Amino acid sequence: MIEDSYKQRGLRNKLVKKMREKGISDERVLEAIGKVPRHAFFDAALLGHAYEDKAFPIGEGQTISQPYTVAFQTEKLLISPGDKVLEIGTGSGYQAAVLLEMGAKVYTIEYNRKLYEHTRDFLPLLGYKPYFFYGDGSKGIPAKAPYDKIIVTAGAPGVPTALTDQLVENGILIIPVGDREKQKMLRITKKNSKLVKEEFDNFAFVPLLGDQGWK
Ligand code: SAM
Repeated sequence: MIEDSYKQRGLRNKLVKKMREKGISDERVLEAIGKVPRHAFFDAALLGHAYEDKAFPIGEGQTISQPYTVAFQTEKLLISPGDKVLEIGTGSGYQAAVLLEMGAKVYTIEYNRKLYEHTRDFLPLLGYKPYFFYGDGSKGIPAKAPYDKIIVTAGAPGVPTALTDQLVENGILIIPVGDREKQKMLRITKKNSKLVKEEFDNFAFVPLLGDQGWK
């Protein structure tokens, strides 16, 4: 069992307050951020930074996303309990944990084998049990489709049609799209079989690799 001290809980409450100040208003998202022990995802050397609103290295050149980015993407997905959600880019598993706290059924796929193996073995120890997959998530997971919601947690050069094809009617895809340095957050909703696009702020993600990502 991971230790969750009074101090860690206090820092987490402060983080939730910060998310609120930065414009996150969905109480269920804030509640989930307030519950997931982010410090459990950090190496001992970085432990003191776990509740800062910053991205941090998780090895293999990858990062655990900034809490605000996690909260922003999650809020835009309009999660309802029971939603079937596909996450592209498992990374540390923190985003998957937030979605699970909100009652979603989570399918998560990671392209880096070491990270996939690490998170597959570690996350259930915290009580978080998504379905783990290893492979190129830029193509989605057609065998498990369709999904109510899809979240891409790496920066893409464009919107992969493989992903919009795997959404249910009224399904939502949230994906950062742009160049390698900077991406605009897009929300794509499938309405009457058409794709409705909304644009939000710029973010900076590590690149989405693979068939429909960066080569
Ligand atoms: N969601 C993660 C978390 O909560 O820690 C953060 C993910 S990190 C910003 C982006 C992840 O996407 C990396 O772990 C990277 O290996 C992964 N990735 C990149 N291209 C991918 C692809 N085509 N399929 C699956 N994962 C991919």
